[in-house]
Amino acid sequence: MDCVYLGTEQAENVLVVTSGTHGVELLPGSACQFALLDSGALDPKRLPENIAVVLIHGINPWGAAYRRRNTEDNVDLCRNFVDFEQDLPVNSAYADIHDTIHALELDQVRDFVERSVGQNNTASFMNAVMGGQYICSDGFSYGGEKACWSHSVLAEYLPTLQNGRKRIDFLDLHSGVGPYAYGSIVAVQRHAALKRAKQAYGGWLIAPREFAESKPDEFYDVTGHSADGYERILSGSDTCAVVLEFGTYPVTEVFTALLTDHLLYAAGSVNTELISEARDKLEELHCPENDCWREAIVQRCFQAFDQACTGLLAS
Ligand SMILES: [Zn+2]
Repeated sequence: MDCVYLGTEQAENVLVVTSGTHGVELLPGSACQFALLDSGALDPKRLPENIAVVLIHGINPWGAAYRRRNTEDNVDLCRNFVDFEQDLPVNSAYADIHDTIHALELDQVRDFVERSVGQNNTASFMNAVMGGQYICSDGFSYGGEKACWSHSVLAEYLPTLQNGRKRIDFLDLHSGVGPYAYGSIVAVQRHAALKRAKQAYGGWLIAPREFAESKPDEFYDVTGHSADGYERILSGSDTCAVVLEFGTYPVTEVFTALLTDHLLYAAGSVNTELISEARDKLEELHCPENDCWREAIVQRCFQAFDQACTGLLAS
């Protein structure tokens, strides 16, 4: 995990831009961070007054290295930011489906996903399977039993930014959900933080906890989201943490690939051909080899960066 601080030490507002929470998604996230750097927009002399920017690159390095979603301990990092001092969230719908998933043969995965997603129950299926679970350490969407390495490193580093700041906001770069080449802003926080997010990014953002009925089915609420963690780690600070999610392929495609890779991993497969095929697929589904897609997401990142800066300075 690499980190760079750009701007003056005295800046009252900080924008933290993170990439690779889900390992394989580092590819577009990293491209955006480098594009911001290369453009000169982060030159301390060009940054808006009173704003410092922190780029944190590859917060899930193991996942990125192996082109997988999860961390080295089969943890979905974006489900790991629960408070492990408290009772862990219960996802009984996952418990019902765990055995079914693990009994699937690889050539049955697509059918299973199409059946599960295609019967007007996308939202409940996605909540069960993607929402986060804390009971099956070999399962899908596992949130862990303690703060994983990436979580611990951030919990140690982020408070060092707090001293004397007015606001510390986050733009977390993800990919794989939503319309192709479209960058959706997702805000899981509520109340004052959501109000600030809307002020910065516009009223069209996706807020799965606030407007559960009106959100697109493929955007689901989760437990242990990084935004929950950053809010807790930086308690006492005014923090607005959003995800910029770059859409790629339909949910059935992405989910079939994620589940296939998960089953290979869970079975301890050493079939290098199958594994590399699965990881190539994941790479394409999170960072399409298409110049227009790549150009569009970088442009969207510049736009979101400007919106985030305007939001930080808004009264
Ligand atoms: Zn992601």
